[in-house]
Amino acid sequence: MSALTLERIREELASYDGAPLRIMEVCGTHTASIVKNGIPSLLSDKIRLISGPGCPVCVTVTAYIDRLTELALTEGTAVCAFGDLLRVRGSSMSLADAKARGGRVHMVYSPAQMLDLAEADPQRTYVFAAVGFETTIPVYAILIQEAERRGIRNVKLLTSLKTMPQVIGWLMDSGAKIDGFIAPGHVCAVAGYEDYITAAAKYGVPFVVSGFEGPQLLATIYALVKMQGRGEVRNLYPGVVEKEGSPESRQLTAEFFEPCDAAWRGMGIIPGSGMRLKDEFAQYDAGSEGLTEDRMATGCQCAHVLTGEITPEQCPLFGKVCTPQDPHGACMVSQEGSCFNHFVARGI
Ligand code: SF4
Repeated sequence: MSALTLERIREELASYDGAPLRIMEVCGTHTASIVKNGIPSLLSDKIRLISGPGCPVCVTVTAYIDRLTELALTEGTAVCAFGDLLRVRGSSMSLADAKARGGRVHMVYSPAQMLDLAEADPQRTYVFAAVGFETTIPVYAILIQEAERRGIRNVKLLTSLKTMPQVIGWLMDSGAKIDGFIAPGHVCAVAGYEDYITAAAKYGVPFVVSGFEGPQLLATIYALVKMQGRGEVRNLYPGVVEKEGSPESRQLTAEFFEPCDAAWRGMGIIPGSGMRLKDEFAQYDAGSEGLTEDRMATGCQCAHVLTGEITPEQCPLFGKVCTPQDPHGACMVSQEGSCFNHFVARGI
């Protein structure tokens, strides 16, 4: 994009005076980039950006965290998880609390690390906290492939895997007032964007597939403004995203996983919005079925934040009893969380 074009986009977005627009970014990485680049401050008051349910840690229900802490405290079992997940509270404790009480918890940077831990400690069962969206699911497939190739039998997954198109459909069917979607670039790189073509036509709202840099996001928002009233999809992340996604990654996912209903924090069970291990790989499952109970901390408004009904600042606990140092709810824990990013933005 030339400097002139970007300048014009900035001017038009700053001076926009049309109908009020609510534009949702459903990907947590987009949320973080929007804040980092100060994009809301570049937009007219008539364009409001809303963070959607695309942060995997934020949408994980209490029962899942409870199962993880139970496993961590079980003799002969260890839990491996990405860092953010350690601080999310279940009904009585977080994984970090379980670790402080003597539970076995390993913070890892990739699922592959768990294989080395498990291989070196064959008497113990290692369970990976497998949360994530379409982007991460092939990584868990590779973990199982590698475990089989290396003959490592003491590894399992506790899955809380979600898919984007179904939750977007659920939001729109629930009456959410969204005028356009910044479609998730990483998810589309894996899964493609054909589902969003269907959704755009069904709901009559535009979707734009976007990259993650500030200028790319501005161009995406500009395109969404110009596409108002058109149920179409544009791909502004070419070269990375193809319409059909990555056939190899999709194949890997399909080999090990199949669609299932899934519980989302504050949204309940959304049919077909999750992925579970296929029955032939059940020996790798650590008890993922039926983890649906969703009990949020008293006063936490994550459910309303995740669906764009309120901004994080409208939660009475925001910045008072709930901060990144002492998070009350999952949306304040994750660096992709809406509450976390709004809190950080106050200091910019
Ligand atoms: Fe929950 Fe904290 Fe966000 Fe309020 S500010 S919705 S308590 S995470």
